[in-house]
Amino acid sequence: MFNKILIANRGEIACRVIQTARRMGVATVAVYSDADRDALHVAMADEAVHIGPSPARESYLDQARILDAATKTGAEAIHPGYGFLSENAGFARACAAAGIVFVGPGADAIAAMGSKSAAKRIMGDAGVPLVPGYHGEDQSPATLRKAADDMGYPVLLKAAAGGGGKGMRQVWQASEFDDALAAAKRESMASFDDDAMLVEKYLTQPRHVEIQVFFDHHGNGVYLAERDCSLQRRHQKVIEEAPAPGVSEALRKRMGEAALDAARAIDYRGAGTVEFLLDVDGSFYFMEMNTRLQVEHPVTEMITGLDLVQWQLEVAAGQTLPLAQDEVTITGHAFEARIYAEDAEQDFLPATGTLSFLRPPVESQHVRVDTGVVEGDEISVYYDPMIAKLVAWDENRDRALSRLGRALADYRIGGTVTNVEFLYNLATNAAFRAAELDTGFIERHSDELYQRRAVDRERQVPVAALALLLWRQREGSVATFGESQSPWRSQSAWRLNQGAVHRFAMACQEETLDVCVEQVGDSYHISVGEISATIGGELDGDALLYDWQGHRQRATLAGGPDGFTLYGAAGACHFREVPPDTGEADHGADDGGLVAPMNGTIVALLVEPGTAVEADTPLLVMEAMKMEHTLRAPAAGTVTGFLAAPGDLVDGGAALIEFTPTGDSE
Ligand code: ADP
Repeated sequence: MFNKILIANRGEIACRVIQTARRMGVATVAVYSDADRDALHVAMADEAVHIGPSPARESYLDQARILDAATKTGAEAIHPGYGFLSENAGFARACAAAGIVFVGPGADAIAAMGSKSAAKRIMGDAGVPLVPGYHGEDQSPATLRKAADDMGYPVLLKAAAGGGGKGMRQVWQASEFDDALAAAKRESMASFDDDAMLVEKYLTQPRHVEIQVFFDHHGNGVYLAERDCSLQRRHQKVIEEAPAPGVSEALRKRMGEAALDAARAIDYRGAGTVEFLLDVDGSFYFMEMNTRLQVEHPVTEMITGLDLVQWQLEVAAGQTLPLAQDEVTITGHAFEARIYAEDAEQDFLPATGTLSFLRPPVESQHVRVDTGVVEGDEISVYYDPMIAKLVAWDENRDRALSRLGRALADYRIGGTVTNVEFLYNLATNAAFRAAELDTGFIERHSDELYQRRAVDRERQVPVAALALLLWRQREGSVATFGESQSPWRSQSAWRLNQGAVHRFAMACQEETLDVCVEQVGDSYHISVGEISATIGGELDGDALLYDWQGHRQRATLAGGPDGFTLYGAAGACHFREVPPDTGEADHGADDGGLVAPMNGTIVALLVEPGTAVEADTPLLVMEAMKMEHTLRAPAAGTVTGFLAAPGDLVDGGAALIEFTPTGDSE
């Protein structure tokens, strides 16, 4: 076994590899860019080497710097993770030339699978079933079109160099072909600098089922069951599971053996994944082979009890595979949900932000969280905005899915928008529970999936009001520590000749609510508009324990400069305190009215640039934390320009409006 390895990656996969290496007694070297100076993978590794500026092509994709870091630190092998250099044949060759083991297949195997069309030719020759289609060298539009006409519509155009669903177009009839070809070529050229296309029969209701294979250097190969990755959005995986529902032992064996044939055809070594489309009639077709560890490998680990990174390192070190095919067993069922900073309501636009609050569910034999971030970390524009992979296991599919739903409900993330609620809607969807799977699932069920859980005002608002009061009392007593006996400094509403009544305003769901709380013994009588309730409760750290008519519940209060989120069984409720109206115009604290108060999205610009306005004129509306915020003129003056446009995502503190107060002009 190696003494020391370098991990040429970042984020959760770098952390994941480091964990196994540590358990195996292998020392680890991390590499990092400027943006990742304080990242978790850097802190976890035994050593870390700075490899350049934040953009990936100047750091994580810089082969020379990475090899230099390996040589300098005496690392004997490089684990590439996934993405970045993991499927770069040139890098695998450069490692070999530098006398460093590349943890992955040989460069030739990577190169052979690098082109979808070349891969199909190899697989066709090896007798692996292929989707009917054209994957020839003649790329003239007439040839491609004839291929499509001959096989009959619908067809799928695919970029030969493609990945991540880019450069792909469905064509439903001959009249659409030319436009679709032009669009697919443009996209492919932009993403891969190559516009070679293949044309395939488009299967209308396929499932994406992939086989995990493993080969050593001694001629042994096994398949480790399959994963179903049919839950996709625009051809990108959202939730994966293993085993694939409804796949019989006989079908598993046929697909497994086809996958082994595929790998043997390119003299494969190490971990690989052979992706198939599984049609409704049980026929399956080779799609592509990924010559690396997949993002979704944990579901395979959960059902086989194996550590695939350990296997990778053992194979790379020349050891034989630890198990033969008949020793591989499957126990139970596992799901993986990919948690991203992205806005489901804005077409899954990637989001950025600082993770001001981060409480993953508690890990156990049933719940695993693979992540590369901690509270306070930033999701930056430089890399993939994945926050974590949440994995749930149980003895059968139904129970595992319930575990996943619960764990998603317990995942609390503040400071950026995430897809957690969308994933929760998926995990609790009846059709998904019934395993009615195919790659069109998300599109077909979009009505149910994109729904936000409605805030149950009657139940959530009083609890939010109580949480806010308890938080204020605690923060107040902290601020006046040492003087807390003074009735003048106390935040409690105790006043001579008055009951303990607190009045304040809070904003919840774009509405400002006047709250009145009367403290009666251990209980609080809360009225907000027509809603009233008597609740007992205490705030312990960020845990709110409350008792409402004998029903005790627990919620988590995430507080920050941007307001609060209360996470409870019924979902999340966002609210903030509204400063008391002092009778003066609210100028948005010290001119802060002209900068974004928090991360959010610009909704509307309310005046034309160049307009002279009165103090307090609404100028811009942004949305953040599910609430709209209006920025107003801090004084009479002129709006000289806007620094953001509707739809833009802006960071808290970013300047948004150029404003010249009257009298300041020269
Ligand atoms: P990429 O490498 O860009 O991810 P793939 O070839 O792996 O592209 O295909 C991605 C997804 O596109 C598949 O999981 C499947 O949902 C869909 N897909 C690919 N080929 C076909 C086809 N012939 N018919 C129907 N759907 C397909």
